[in-house]
Amino acid sequence: MTPPAPSDENLLPAPVLVVEDDPLMRQRLALVLDGLGYAREAITFSQSLGEARAYASNNPLAMALVDLGLPDGNGIELIEELRAQDPSLLILVISAWSTEESILGALRAGATGYVLKERDDLEVSLSIRSVLRGGAPIDPFIARRILALLPVAADHIEPEEPPRPVEAGVLSARESEILELVSQGLTNREIAEQLVISRYTAECHIKRIYRKLAVSSRTRAVNEARQRGLLP
Ligand code: CA
Repeated sequence: MTPPAPSDENLLPAPVLVVEDDPLMRQRLALVLDGLGYAREAITFSQSLGEARAYASNNPLAMALVDLGLPDGNGIELIEELRAQDPSLLILVISAWSTEESILGALRAGATGYVLKERDDLEVSLSIRSVLRGGAPIDPFIARRILALLPVAADHIEPEEPPRPVEAGVLSARESEILELVSQGLTNREIAEQLVISRYTAECHIKRIYRKLAVSSRTRAVNEARQRGLLP
C-alpha cells in the first residue's frame, strides 16, 4: 500500500507563531497564511512577548511572524531569544515601524526579513513566501534606509580608474577640475555635460571631494579649497 501523498500544508514549515497584538492585523495574517496553504491548526497567535515566550519555550517552531510594538515590550527582545534558541528558525518582522533603531535592531537580533504593515496582503504574502524559500526579504523602503546608512565605498566610485586610497585634502587633477567648475556655479548636470561624463560620475566625484575636504556642501567645499590654496 502506498502512503498518501503529502498535502501542501505538510510541505510548509510549521508550526508558525504569529506575535501580534492588533486583532485586525492578526486576522489579516491568518488570511495571508491561509492563502499560502497553512492549516489553521498550524498557526498559533500570541498577543504579547509573555505569551509568545511561554509558547515558544514549550513548543518547537518553524517560523515566527513578529510585530515589534507589543504591550509588554519590544519584539526585538523576543527575536533575540528565539534566535538564540534556534539558529534555523525563520523570523519575519511585520511592523509599522520604520525607524533605523527598529530596523537595525531587529536585523541584528537575528530577524530573517522585515516588511512594513502598510504593504498590501499580496506583498506581505510574497515576503513570507520568500522567507519560506530561504530568502531574506527586506521591505524596499527599509532597504533604501539601510543603503543610505552604508558609507560610500571609495574604491567603487570610479570604476574607470584604478582604486587608490582617499588621501585627505589631496585632490586629483579631475577633482580639482570639477571643484573649479563647482566654484564657477555650475550644476552637477552642467559639469557632467562639460566634462562629457555621466551625471552619476560627476556626483561621485563631488562626494569624494566633500569627503576629502571634510565638508558637506558646495559652498563649503569651495571655501575650504580656497583656504587651502587649492582654488584661486
Ligand atoms: Ca503592535
